[in-house]
Amino acid sequence: MLKLRILGCSGGVGRGLRTTSLLVNDSVLIDAGSGVGELTLEEMSAVKHLFITHSHLDHINFLPLLLDSMFESLIEPIIVHAQPVTIRAIKDHIFNWTIWPDFTKLPTPEKAVVKFVEMLPNDKVEIDGHEYEMIEVSHIVPAVGYRVEFEGKSFAFSGDTSSNDSFWNNLNAHDDLDVLIVETAFPEAMYDLALKARHYAPSLLVEDLKKLRHKPDIYLTHLKPGLENQIMTEVKTAAPSLSINILQSDSNFEL
Ligand SMILES: [Zn+2]
Ligand SMILES: [Zn+2]
Repeated sequence: MLKLRILGCSGGVGRGLRTTSLLVNDSVLIDAGSGVGELTLEEMSAVKHLFITHSHLDHINFLPLLLDSMFESLIEPIIVHAQPVTIRAIKDHIFNWTIWPDFTKLPTPEKAVVKFVEMLPNDKVEIDGHEYEMIEVSHIVPAVGYRVEFEGKSFAFSGDTSSNDSFWNNLNAHDDLDVLIVETAFPEAMYDLALKARHYAPSLLVEDLKKLRHKPDIYLTHLKPGLENQIMTEVKTAAPSLSINILQSDSNFEL
């Protein structure tokens, strides 16, 4: 079974709002935003792999804290999969002994608690029989989404992106898609900002959804706090025939 638990899915913070982090089958994280703070210490200790979409803070801010909390109890390093440019950014700007210690060398370089493994778009990694495929998207920094498949069931997560072809072409190249989690960071009134920051606004998303040949259940994520219902209404009005919901924090999927 493909189990997915939404730890955080907001475009910002506030009581009850956590930033992006998805837990797959109890042992794999996709992004390490503040949603990681929903995990108990025991649940954190089950995490073996982390796939990162891009270097922005709302997607990585709890990685340094996760490693710190797990430091004494980790027997094997947590394996972090990301694009080389993303790994470079995290090493240079977070694990630089100024913002946070360099956990890639602690407690010793040979037995560090974290190991970064480079991955490129279209690469696939198999974990416990589940396939994780990295898919290029189009954001203000190099960014990817992921498609996860197990025994014919699959979901895809866009990460942060604006209009693109690569994500939709990749999904179309597969036979099926059950669940699509896609960002819509801004309402239509912030269309210009969406273009500048390379996020989706409702009309941009609905235009791109026409490229998808599958009919998955669609969940909107990364919505601007306080504007969730406005964004949702705008997307539904522009695409009334599609099955679209707001992704809810602490929700669970079993595929
Ligand atoms: Zn971003
Ligand atoms: Zn983001």
